Amino acid sequence: MLDTIARWIHPQKADAGPPRACATTPAASESRRTRPTRSGMDVMSGPLVVDIKGNSLDDGPGIRTVVFLKGCPLECVWCHNPETRSPKLELSFTAPDCVGCASCVAACPESAIALDRPGRIDRANCTLCGDCAAACPARALNLVGRSMTVEAVVAAVVKDKPFFDTSGGGLTLSGGEPTQHMAFASAILRTVREQGVHTLVETCGLFSLDRFRAEMLPWLDAVYFDLKLIEPGAHRRFCGVSNEVILTNFARLHALSGEMGFELLPRTPLVPGITAVPENLDGIATYLEGLGVNEARLLPYNPTWHDKVARLGATTPASDTALPATWMPAAEVEACADIFERHGINVRERARA
Ligand code: SF4
Ligand code: SF4
Repeated sequence: MLDTIARWIHPQKADAGPPRACATTPAASESRRTRPTRSGMDVMSGPLVVDIKGNSLDDGPGIRTVVFLKGCPLECVWCHNPETRSPKLELSFTAPDCVGCASCVAACPESAIALDRPGRIDRANCTLCGDCAAACPARALNLVGRSMTVEAVVAAVVKDKPFFDTSGGGLTLSGGEPTQHMAFASAILRTVREQGVHTLVETCGLFSLDRFRAEMLPWLDAVYFDLKLIEPGAHRRFCGVSNEVILTNFARLHALSGEMGFELLPRTPLVPGITAVPENLDGIATYLEGLGVNEARLLPYNPTWHDKVARLGATTPASDTALPATWMPAAEVEACADIFERHGINVRERARA
């Protein structure tokens, strides 16, 4: 069953094969441009921003504002943010919110919407103009992703500084994968850090370490680094790429963290039957113990991805529902934590993925 899921998500890579993306390959979004403002200052126009969420308590210390950037080099079969995987603009349709008014049908210049069409939208003919989303009174249709300048993102973050100051919080860059947009991320981190805001990035770990060290690390207080699967073949099968670069990057960052004074926290999502199996958890814990890491975080399985995938127009075949549609019971999470703790690794929090 899990093989079937892996083939559905990334059909060429379910069994083996070359990685889809190389950490040293510049991301497509990095080809984006800079443009001058009226003042003559260069302002980078970066990747698409999916959301800027304030008042988060799950993405680092204190109260945080989380900036979600679009685009990720991994294709994890359980991805709980599928709307951030593609770097491109997408149209989302949330069927339960629809009141059936047909305003979208009238608004669409391409005749790409029909109320009786399964999934509602003829995506092959949709130009992503957004007219339907603008016309929808129920907000059942939404364009996912918007262009923002560095200045606009910084302004949206810094307005929350009073909350950061009272709680020990700050900015969390997330996604998607923020390191896919190294120059844009660097400019945001540097600017908010200079204004006294704590900075943190959540990463899948697949990036050029030389660029990360030069462009992002100088402006980071913390790096939350995902270690999902320890065995390279399993990582390729369920995440679309091997984990060799990821493990090398983690080890090198661990060495740098003491020297440079940033926090490095490994995180493992607990996916039933895939990552949350004793051999994988024991392998990750053994790896961390060997490096001298004594703290980690576990992220219990988040089942909401099923609905999110459907909103983007993908279909989950009925045979591919092996991953549960429910949250992980606390007792299972504790059993996973016990494996880490047997290796002397303190599981700081059992935050949700
Ligand atoms: S985004 Fe534009 S083309 Fe696509 S369905 Fe909506 S109105 Fe039609
Ligand atoms: S405009 Fe919105 S609420 Fe009305 S039919 Fe279309 S999706 Fe449904």
